[in-house]
Amino acid sequence: MRLLLLAPPGAGKGTQGERLAAWSGARHIAAGDLLRAEARAGGGLGREIAAHQARGDLVPDQIVLDVLTPAVVEAAAHGGYILDGFPRTLPQATAAAELAARLGVTLHAAVYLHAPEAVLTRRLLDRASQSGRSDDRADVIRHRLEVFAETTGPLVPYYEERGILVAVDADQPPESVSADIQAGLSGLSLPRSCGH
Ligand code: ADP
Repeated sequence: MRLLLLAPPGAGKGTQGERLAAWSGARHIAAGDLLRAEARAGGGLGREIAAHQARGDLVPDQIVLDVLTPAVVEAAAHGGYILDGFPRTLPQATAAAELAARLGVTLHAAVYLHAPEAVLTRRLLDRASQSGRSDDRADVIRHRLEVFAETTGPLVPYYEERGILVAVDADQPPESVSADIQAGLSGLSLPRSCGH
């Protein structure tokens, strides 16, 4: 199975990504985690990534594609992928679609997790004390939500037009969100080996 999770910060992409990977056998690829690992590795590239992340700005598309593409290609050859947080801009989406078409591994579904902004903000602030993330601060959280609305939001109609969007209410317990995702996916034509 090959799918992506499209969701604002705090909607539960990471949790649902892990659950979907366990359910389907596909690999969970979390863009933010891969970029944070690259940032920790240091060097000029690492410092540039860390600076964008700390401000809550998106990392430039070319850097994201350079970091993510090898992981996506590798996963595509081994049971598929659950992309969590990639693509996040239209140029990333078109670059990913071209690569997938070239390799014959196009997307089966784009799962959009939505929740009211007040719920997202509360979850992110609740998690801030344990996350240790430089971007889990009230002002940066507000900015990350704005960036999602302006830059990533347009991917919702992009995938809807392609007939692969599954929209799910993320303001529910994790098990209910997973159940709704699985119900939504069963309405699409997925490969028969997909966990059901
Ligand atoms: P959240 O969705 O809660 O913001 P993530 O770990 O997915 O958490 O992303 C954290 C940060 O990593 C983003 O604010 C951004 O700086 C960077 N990032 C993650 N994915 C992408 C992407 N696809 N394109 C650009 N930047 C990204």
